[in-house]
Amino acid sequence: DSEDAGAIECDRMLREPICCILGHVDAGKTKLLDCIRHTNVQKGEAGGITQQIGATYIPVEYIKERAKPREGIVIKVPGLLVIDTPGHESFSNMRSRGLSLCDIAVVVVDIMHGLEKQTVESLALLKDRNVRFIVVLNKVDRLSGWKHCPDAPIKKALENQSGDVKREFEWRLTKVVTQLMENGFNTALYYDNHKFRKVFDIVPTSAISGEGIPDLLLMLVLRSQATMVEKLTFVNTVECTVLEVNDDKDLGTNIDVVLINGVLHKGDQVNVCTKQGPVTTTIRDLLTPHPLKELRVKGIYKHHKELKAAQGVKIVAWGLKYAIPGTPLFVLKPGDDLGQSEAKSQRNGNEEGNMMQEI
Ligand code: GDP
Repeated sequence: DSEDAGAIECDRMLREPICCILGHVDAGKTKLLDCIRHTNVQKGEAGGITQQIGATYIPVEYIKERAKPREGIVIKVPGLLVIDTPGHESFSNMRSRGLSLCDIAVVVVDIMHGLEKQTVESLALLKDRNVRFIVVLNKVDRLSGWKHCPDAPIKKALENQSGDVKREFEWRLTKVVTQLMENGFNTALYYDNHKFRKVFDIVPTSAISGEGIPDLLLMLVLRSQATMVEKLTFVNTVECTVLEVNDDKDLGTNIDVVLINGVLHKGDQVNVCTKQGPVTTTIRDLLTPHPLKELRVKGIYKHHKELKAAQGVKIVAWGLKYAIPGTPLFVLKPGDDLGQSEAKSQRNGNEEGNMMQEI
């Protein structure tokens, strides 16, 4: 069968794949996201956001500019939505909530350390939920004698290295491939991977000097669009999950949500599960951060009349103070039975409430 990197079966309208980044502490998850966005969260640019789930929109134009795909490669998705979950042990419920939203994951492995405890746990979660992933073999610049090639595609950067560096790279790569195999995964360096439906990709990177970042961005979009057309097909039914409740001096109470599919409009009547039961309210304002900016970081928001999935969205409306993170938000259409919709919402609220108690 054809496994051409850009091939997809038909001409459907696709939404952005939702991607999350997992891995052992200190493997470089934050730095990697910083390198992709050209931000500096890792150095504390945005203090205090590490206890929430965040979302960053990466437009396709930016991906093309960074990745410079060769002619003939067609990018069909309009961008990527990256979900960032807190790394600390005590936030495993948020990590699992982040994961449940995600279409494709990035598992970051420190090339100098190989697979570590949290890497193995992440892999088990992904296998359990049947989520596709790309392994990032990060910190290649720490190989002894590495010559920096800022933002270069990894193949080019590797060609530039001495024989010793190449040998150390091969040795460490083989070690990780073996460890992954011991965990039940077949993997290969992405440009040698001709069976990507069965074999998982490895993309070597440096989050410090940017080698391999173009490759990672391109692989995320190409593998997603090639393997999950059904899941990524845009539909007109809203699928939306609450991430956080915020109390803002200027905006008032608002909720951060991930719009997974469909369209939200200013003025839509929505139904949200709260600790005090289901609440029906009207969207007063629909906001997003600017592209490449974090939803969690207070900044200047863009106001929208309508928004199409996938996006991280801030919704301003009355009655959201006790909304329950992790529960779905429903849009009511004219003629919808309010009682029925509220009952559905309440059931979801109870389930999430019970799950949170268990955790
Ligand atoms: P996280 O815990 O997985 O989010 O890891 P961080 O992004 O906070 O990175 C942990 C440490 O590793 C920091 O000191 C980073 O500067 C460093 N680091 C991350 N990526 C790289 C890399 O590619 N090369 C090198 N040399 N250091 C890195």
